[in-house]
Amino acid sequence: MGFAPGTGNHGGMTSTNDDAPKDAPKKYEFHYVLQCPCGEVLTGLTEDEIVEVSFAHLGEKHPDMQYEREHILFMAQRLIRPPDAASGTP
Ligand SMILES: [Zn+2]
Repeated sequence: MGFAPGTGNHGGMTSTNDDAPKDAPKKYEFHYVLQCPCGEVLTGLTEDEIVEVSFAHLGEKHPDMQYEREHILFMAQRLIRPPDAASGTP
């Protein structure tokens, strides 16, 4: 009756995680916000994106309005986007 399960598991599996932590200081990111006169708020992370989003909106909602890229960028505001607000809408 003296059968004890031996704990002979001498695992030497200590892998050294010696990777350099690459947490670069997170800069504030900006995004572009354009409020259309119709009330729609358009956002884009880059100039190209806000222009593209705005053109898409104008083409869909206001086909007779002719804006150019520079008009979009003139009306768009560049705002600080908090890193926490990264979750969200595509
Ligand atoms: Zn609109």
